[in-house]
Amino acid sequence: MSYSFQFDAVKLPDECETLREEVRAFLRQEIEAGTFKPGGGGRHNSHSPAFSRKMGERGWIGMTWPKKYGGQERSQLERYVVNEELLAVGAPQGFHRTADRQSGPVLIRYGTEEVKQDVLPRICRGELSFCIGLSEPNSGSDLFAASCRASMADGGWHINGTKIWTSNAHRSHYMIGLFRTTSATKEDRRHGLTQFLVKMDTPGIRTRPIHSLTGRHDWNEVIFENAFVPDSHRVGEVDMAWKQATNELAYERSGPERFMETYDSLVELVRLAGDKPSERQADGIGREVAHLATLRRMSVSVAGMLQAGKVPSVEAAVVKDLGTNFEQALPNKVRLLAPATSAGDPSNRGDFDEVLAYTTLIAPKLTIQGGTREVLRGIIARGLGLR
Ligand SMILES: Cc1cc2nc3c(=O)[nH]c(=O)nc-3n(C[C@H](O)[C@H](O)[C@H](O)COP(=O)(O)OP(=O)(O)OC[C@H]3O[C@@H](n4cnc5c(N)ncnc54)[C@H](O)[C@@H]3O)c2cc1C
Repeated sequence: MSYSFQFDAVKLPDECETLREEVRAFLRQEIEAGTFKPGGGGRHNSHSPAFSRKMGERGWIGMTWPKKYGGQERSQLERYVVNEELLAVGAPQGFHRTADRQSGPVLIRYGTEEVKQDVLPRICRGELSFCIGLSEPNSGSDLFAASCRASMADGGWHINGTKIWTSNAHRSHYMIGLFRTTSATKEDRRHGLTQFLVKMDTPGIRTRPIHSLTGRHDWNEVIFENAFVPDSHRVGEVDMAWKQATNELAYERSGPERFMETYDSLVELVRLAGDKPSERQADGIGREVAHLATLRRMSVSVAGMLQAGKVPSVEAAVVKDLGTNFEQALPNKVRLLAPATSAGDPSNRGDFDEVLAYTTLIAPKLTIQGGTREVLRGIIARGLGLR
C-alpha cells in the first residue's frame, strides 16, 4: 500500500517554554557546581548516575509515562524540550537515556504488570541503566536472522548465544533483548523471535569490551551461557516480537540526538569565527544553521505525532537519515570553514581543535547506529510504496 509521509508544523506550547527555562536554570546550576563540563562534543561526559538521579528528582526521566509507574504524564513535546536542552550543553545522559527513550516505552506497552511496577519507577528515579540487545555477529541490519536462542525451562527460559555492539552493556542493569524462541517458518521469516527483559547480573552472562575509534569502551560483546530469565520477564507474545522491535525504533530514530551529536563543532566554529566572520564563513555557518533548524522542525513534528499516539516509523526514518548525514558531514565542513589560526589571540582557539578531532572520530558511526543509512532508505522507499 502506498503512503506519503507528512511533517505537520508543530508549535511548542507555552508550558514547553516555561519548562525550558526551568531546565536551563537547573543545568546552569549543575555546571556551576562542577557536576559536568559543558560542550566538548560529549567527550567529557557520558554516564553519571548522580546526574541521572537529579534528573529523576525533577521528574525529567520517564516524564511522559503514567503516574502510577512513576511518570509525570507530561507530553512528548515537553520531553523533547528537556532532551534538546541537555544535548545543547552536552549534559551526561548516558546512564538513563536508553531506558527513558525506548526501553521504558516498550515495557509500558508489552511488559507484565509485575515488571512494570518493579522496574519503571526505578527508571524514573534515575536508578537504572538499560542496553539494547538486537545485533549479533551474523545479524545486524537483518534482525530476523537473529539466532541467540531462548529455550523454554522450568518457570522461564535459558538463553544461549552472543549479542554484539551492545552499547553500555558493561554498565547496564538490564537489557531488552531479542531472542530466537522458534525457528522461522518458510512462509514467514519474521516469526519465532521474542523479547525479554534480562537482568545483566544474571549468572551465565559475560561482557567483553569493544573499543571505538576514540579509544573509549562503549560497546560490548555479550555472551549468554544458559542464563535463566523468568517468564514474567518476557516482553510481549512468544514468537511475535518482530513488530514490537520495529515499533521501538520509531522512538529511537527521531529525537534531536539524531542530528546533534557533532553540534558542538559548529558552536566552536561560531565562537572561533567571532563577531567578524569572513563572508565565506558567514555563508557556511548560515547554511549549517538552516539545515539544523529544518531538522529540528521535522523532529519536533515527529514528537507531535508520538504525542498523538501515532507510530511514525517512516517519518522517524527520514529524520534519522537526514539528521545523521547532516551531523556526519558537519565536522569536515567546520574544518574547512575554520580559520587556520585564531586571529590575534592563540588562546582563543580553546577547545576547538579537540572538539573537532573528537567529532571527526565519531562521525563514521553516526550513519550505522540505530539502523544504517541504506536500511533506512529501504524503509522509506517501502513506506512510499516504491518497493
Ligand atoms: C555506535 C553504535 C552503537 C550501536 N549500539 C548497538 C546496541 O546498543 N545494540 C545493538 O543491538 N546494536 C548496536 N549497534 C549495531 C548496529 O545496530 C548495527 O551495526 C547495524 O544495525 C548494522 O548491522 P551490521 O553492523 O551487522 O552490518 P550489516 O547489516 O552486515 O551491513 C553491512 C552493510 O550492508 C548494508 N546493508 C545491509 N542490509 C542491507 C539492505 N537490506 N539493503 C541495502 N544495504 C544493506 C548496510 O547498510 C551496511 O553498509 C551499534 C552500532 C554502532 C555503530
